[in-house]
Amino acid sequence: MAFVFAPLFSGSSGNALYVERDGTRLLVDAGLPGKRVAAELEKAGASIEDVQAIFVTHEHMDHIAGVGVLARRWGMPVYATDPTWEAMAEKIGRVKPEQRRIVSPGEPIEFGCLRVTPFSIPHDAACPVGYTFTDGRRKLSVATDIGCLREDWLEAVEGSDLLLLESNHDVDMLRAGRYPYELKMRILGQTGHLSNDDAGIAAARLCRRGVKQILLGHLSHENNFPELAWESVACRLRELGAEGDIPLGVALRGGLSGRYVLEEGEVGAE
Ligand SMILES: [Zn+2]
Ligand SMILES: [Zn+2]
Repeated sequence: MAFVFAPLFSGSSGNALYVERDGTRLLVDAGLPGKRVAAELEKAGASIEDVQAIFVTHEHMDHIAGVGVLARRWGMPVYATDPTWEAMAEKIGRVKPEQRRIVSPGEPIEFGCLRVTPFSIPHDAACPVGYTFTDGRRKLSVATDIGCLREDWLEAVEGSDLLLLESNHDVDMLRAGRYPYELKMRILGQTGHLSNDDAGIAAARLCRRGVKQILLGHLSHENNFPELAWESVACRLRELGAEGDIPLGVALRGGLSGRYVLEEGEVGAE
């Protein structure tokens, strides 16, 4: 059966990612109004009614803005780390206790036909995580909102058939741009966001560690654009001798990027 990944929104203005394998259907984050997430899901050929869970990466609004509304309307469980629950409880409003599920970094859970493993990422949130999803044969990973390259998260995503990797900003655009100084420092810091250059270095390392396809995501609206992110990462791959080894795509900020089907041994976009 198909193992499908559909990035509905990916960027600093909101994130929601759809994962489907057999009868298992879930969202990673819902950082836009519930109605927008539901509408984009329809375009991906799915329905919000069928979504069985939301896995939250961290409590920043671009990841949780629609979580409370969707959980109350559709009753699906919401998975997050304990500190993330603490930090987001007020922001998302009332969610029934039985819908609150807790995950811990490095501890896999079985969800439907998928094994879901949260992993720690360096980011300025309470206990932020990325996720890997595997059916035992194929592996999908989501790694955004990452301040710096670090061996633990690189190791967590190695061997992925498809990886959504943050490529947030162009450092020169950010430095020269109109953001306040403190915000620039936050984004550039070790718990901020991954630059195009760092994404390129990560991509080169990861293609030697079995990652087969990369989608660049969580692009900044202000300090990046898809062609620049793609070119910067491709350039790094060239410099580091990994050019052509790995198909590279870009997940869109404002809507469905496509339906990526993870086949055994290859990944194809529909
Ligand atoms: Zn974010
Ligand atoms: Zn964040």
